[in-house]
Amino acid sequence: MSGKYDYTTLKTDVLIIGAGGAGLRAAIAATEAGCSVIVASKSLLGKAHTVMAEGGIAASLGNVDPQDNWQVHFRDTYVEGVFLGNWRMVELLAKEAPDRVYELERYGALFDRTPEGKIMQRPFGAHTYRRLCYVGDKTGLELIRTLQDKVAHSEAKILDEFVVTKIVSVNGKVAGAFGISMREGTFKLIECKSLIVASGGLGRLFKVTSNSWEGTGDGLALSYRAGAVLMDMEMVQFHPTGMVWPPAVRGILVTEGVRGEGGMLYNKDGERFMLRYSPKKKELDARDVVARSIYREIIEGRGTEHGGVYLDIRHRGAKYIMEKLPSMYMQYKEFAEIDITKEKMEVAPTVHYHMGGIRVNPETQMTNVEGLFAAGEAASGLHGANRLGGNSLTDLLVFGKLAGVSASAYAKQGKQIKFDESVVKEEIDRVMSFVENPGATNPYPLIDTLRESMSKYVGILRNDSDLNKAYDAIKSLKPKLKDIGVRGSLRFNPGLLACLEFTNLIQSAELLVRGAIERKESRGAHFRSDFPNRSHDFRKNILFKLNEGRDEMSFAAVPELPDHLKDLGKEED
Ligand SMILES: Cc1cc2nc3c(=O)[nH]c(=O)nc-3n(C[C@H](O)[C@H](O)[C@H](O)COP(=O)(O)OP(=O)(O)OC[C@H]3O[C@@H](n4cnc5c(N)ncnc54)[C@H](O)[C@@H]3O)c2cc1C
Repeated sequence: MSGKYDYTTLKTDVLIIGAGGAGLRAAIAATEAGCSVIVASKSLLGKAHTVMAEGGIAASLGNVDPQDNWQVHFRDTYVEGVFLGNWRMVELLAKEAPDRVYELERYGALFDRTPEGKIMQRPFGAHTYRRLCYVGDKTGLELIRTLQDKVAHSEAKILDEFVVTKIVSVNGKVAGAFGISMREGTFKLIECKSLIVASGGLGRLFKVTSNSWEGTGDGLALSYRAGAVLMDMEMVQFHPTGMVWPPAVRGILVTEGVRGEGGMLYNKDGERFMLRYSPKKKELDARDVVARSIYREIIEGRGTEHGGVYLDIRHRGAKYIMEKLPSMYMQYKEFAEIDITKEKMEVAPTVHYHMGGIRVNPETQMTNVEGLFAAGEAASGLHGANRLGGNSLTDLLVFGKLAGVSASAYAKQGKQIKFDESVVKEEIDRVMSFVENPGATNPYPLIDTLRESMSKYVGILRNDSDLNKAYDAIKSLKPKLKDIGVRGSLRFNPGLLACLEFTNLIQSAELLVRGAIERKESRGAHFRSDFPNRSHDFRKNILFKLNEGRDEMSFAAVPELPDHLKDLGKEED
């Protein structure tokens, strides 16, 4: 082979797409099981979105509140997910969280400590007890540093700055993946016996988001095209507090740790409005409740000059703030020239997390495509209609490990699935069409239009008319996909990456909006002003599957709680 269709082939037992917390934890499990492992990541190793995690990791260690236990963690997670979560995933999370946190400590993570030297725990929204283990406000950085160190000392091969463009499946079985080494400017085919998608979320589908540049839902679109079922796509979490000013930093996260450490929310009239919306839990109610309350204050005219509300932590004193929230102090100082020990912060909701994603079997993390697994934010089922803060990092460790264990067991039994080389040629043609089209349309303005429509019409308060406007915008953008393109080569070409990501974003956007239109009720993060109540008829997961080029939608009843969990997950109004 030569010229346009040049590519090299790598072979491995287990391929992992993503080097965030889920991907790295899976890699540790798979190498420990004796499998050969390749981790592919479009960002540099150590730079995955997970490094941005701030507030902490939830586990019922009971170090500061001894009453805490896995049952309370189960209840908090299941109930605040508004009964849409998969009970078995929630049970595994709650039961295994302490072991995974202590294991991370054994790997070398240095958590903040109680005076007696135990791992310190802080309060967080809708967690009954102080449950979040943390490292100041840099917990994600410590998690990635620790896991990365462990992976670096294993046999796993890292392909970073490598963008996967296709997952290859044959007759419902996974066979490998194809992509571009951006560093080398070359194509590579990776043949594998099992594949774990740990590619994170899709926050970058929206204009205002806390997510890093990688969050373009690639893994969702790639898995979908390979035959996997996507679930609860409409469930997008708005974090209550993102920065609002100056405009260039709009959406950057202000950690829930600020409220966990006592930060209070005020409107422009100086009213602590959460006392009105949630007298008991106040600022530490679930994220959907706090985000909607802030949003109402703003749209009803009680917002600040720049369209936010105030978050105030000054009463804690400079020493405490600098010790507990050093990154927040630096973030406001550097980006907004505000000293949060002396001034109030201006905040507003920002798109933060996607509860929906790839549907998995709770016992194995395998999808409906044999040999294809998913973990972390790319997977769905655990958080239901609303994720509790701190539960994502726990998710990465618990289900990253489970995916690694299951994918290696599968790889050991399975064999490499053969496929025709024409599959690779077709993919090369698709990718090259983006750089071989001299009169091509610039993808960036189209991406901006998509993001603006999503932020405008698929926000905190949704309704049929707005959702249909978003759907129309997507439908008018879709035909333009075939005309987009940029100049340059395969090597570090951000324009090419934008073309590839846009294709994935459009795919996710369409399913997300269709799901939101179909869910004619309000549940957790999905709030419909035209259907403001929760409906028992919609205690169902909305599923999408590609069938001969058509998106097929169906509903699946949420699995019923088994007897031993019935009391903990009882549905209340
Ligand atoms: C600012 C911020 C603070 C947060 N704080 C907390 C917190 O305190 N506690 C908590 O529990 N959660 C927190 N979260 C949420 C949490 O950080 C994420 O949900 C979690 O890190 C996702 O991890 P992941 O391993 O699933 O994916 P990610 O960390 O998003 O990693 C995805 C990986 O996939 C790669 N990838 C994507 N597409 C491709 C492709 N096409 N080809 C190759 N590689 C690809 C990326 O390069 C990356 O390596 C926070 C989120 C943000 C944005």
